[in-house]
Amino acid sequence: RQLLNATFYVSVHETRELPKHSGVEIAFAGRSNSGKSSAINALTNINRLAFVSKTPGRTQLINYFQLKSDHFLVDLPGYGYAKVPESIRQHWQNLLSNYLQTRSSLKGLILIMDVRHPLKPLDIQMLDWFSATGKAIHILLTKADKMSKFQANAALQKVALYVKEVYPQCSVQLFSSLANIGIDDATAIINKWMQT
Ligand code: GDP
Repeated sequence: RQLLNATFYVSVHETRELPKHSGVEIAFAGRSNSGKSSAINALTNINRLAFVSKTPGRTQLINYFQLKSDHFLVDLPGYGYAKVPESIRQHWQNLLSNYLQTRSSLKGLILIMDVRHPLKPLDIQMLDWFSATGKAIHILLTKADKMSKFQANAALQKVALYVKEVYPQCSVQLFSSLANIGIDDATAIINKWMQT
């Protein structure tokens, strides 16, 4: 299993704090508890938990991880946590829509969804914001180990059919950080995007 070699780079709260460089970056987004942190940990050799507070609704940071000189993975704040105050929800919305729609060094979006609860309204919101740019999107249906192979494949087909209709530049796969499902496929996509 090949791991992406990543080191923590910087955290930002506001669009204006984003690094000025024009490198290559790939962003990870997903609902709180979708398994985004676990996916990032499974794909890289960083121990993210060492420096990121996971209090839901409080951590509204964009975290940058450096792969090599000007190549970055960008961990976007998790969304959809029910108890988030309106002011934070607004902040999230502005930060995310701004970043996704205007960041020129952003090459692609990895969107994390729990395979048991895919395509929630905020996931669709992310797809809508980002697909307007015409850039690539890859969905990881996480926690695939929580279903039988048959159920997981049925869920995959359903999501694949939906995105094929609505978001032609979007691909989708099953993933499990726990059971090591789809890690090589996801790594290959990230490496491919980094080279374009
Ligand atoms: P985040 O809030 O999106 O960053 O989600 P986390 O990565 O913290 O995961 C949320 C919960 O789901 C934790 O309890 C994880 O242990 C669990 N989890 C994450 N990935 C998997 C997976 O692939 N399989 C299973 N069974 N549980 C997972």
